[in-house]
Amino acid sequence: MKTILIILMSISLQMCSQVHKPEKEKQMENITTNSNPYYSRTDRSKLTVSNEEWRKILSPDLYAIAREAATERPFTGKYNQFDELGEYYCAVCGNHLFRSDSKFSSTCGWPSFFEADKEGVAYNRDSSHGMERIEVVCKRCDSHLGHVFNDGPAPTGMRYCMNSVSLEFVGDSEKK
Ligand code: FE
Repeated sequence: MKTILIILMSISLQMCSQVHKPEKEKQMENITTNSNPYYSRTDRSKLTVSNEEWRKILSPDLYAIAREAATERPFTGKYNQFDELGEYYCAVCGNHLFRSDSKFSSTCGWPSFFEADKEGVAYNRDSSHGMERIEVVCKRCDSHLGHVFNDGPAPTGMRYCMNSVSLEFVGDSEKK
C-alpha cells in the first residue's frame, strides 16, 4: 500500500513538472513579445509572414518603419544617445543584430554601428528618393532596419545607420 502511494505521488509530481515547464518558458518570452508568436532570440530560421499578419501584431510605429521602410525623425530615437553595454535585437522578430561594442557616437541623428552580426542582417539595393543606398534588413524576418554607408570609423569603415524603433536593447545586466 505504501509503495503504491509513493508511486502515485511521484507520478503526480512528474505530471506537475511536465505541465509547468513549458508554461514557465512561455512566460519568460512573453515579457518582451507582447503576444508576438514569431518572436524568438534563439530561433534563427527564416520567417515568411505577410504584412497583413504583421500589421495585427506590431505597433503602428514599428509597422511603418519595419514593414514600409519609413524613417524615424533624426535625434528622436531612444538609442541615438545611448551607450549601455548589451545586445541589440530585431524589434519585430528577436533576431540578434548588433553588439554594443560596435556602436559609436555619430552626429547623423540615428544610432550607428560599425559592424553587424553577419547572421543577423542582409542587404538590398535601394534606389528610392533619388539616391543609391544599401538597405539593411533583418535576415530572419526581412524587416527594414536602416541603411549602411562606407563613411564609418575603423576597423570596418562602415556606418550602419539604424532606426531605434527597429531595435530592441537587452543590457548585459539583464541577461540571466
Ligand atoms: Fe527580424
